Amino acid sequence: MRANLELIEQIRADSINDIESLTEMCQHMTLVTESIQQNYQALLVQNQLLTGKLLSIIDECTCREGKRCGRCLEILKTLGGENLEPKPDAVQKYQTLLTKLRKLG
Ligand SMILES: [Zn+2]
Repeated sequence: MRANLELIEQIRADSINDIESLTEMCQHMTLVTESIQQNYQALLVQNQLLTGKLLSIIDECTCREGKRCGRCLEILKTLGGENLEPKPDAVQKYQTLLTKLRKLG
């Protein structure tokens, strides 16, 4: 009888430990998720600022639409390129990842 009670007590203590480490893991995952989200937001804002800056350079240039100078054409090419704006499927992948992480947390 005493051994039985001790066993139950041990199982209870183990369970509490398991729940505590699980909670810690979830909290950690939440922090990781928030950190990724913040970094991504900062990146988007940075991209928007950069895009705005480059577009204002074109605006201030003496060349006109249809007859752009080499520099403006280069800027437009860059803005239309892959590196500046995140591709829709990249955003989609990121959101899928976030959803998975949230489910874990
Ligand atoms: Zn120009």
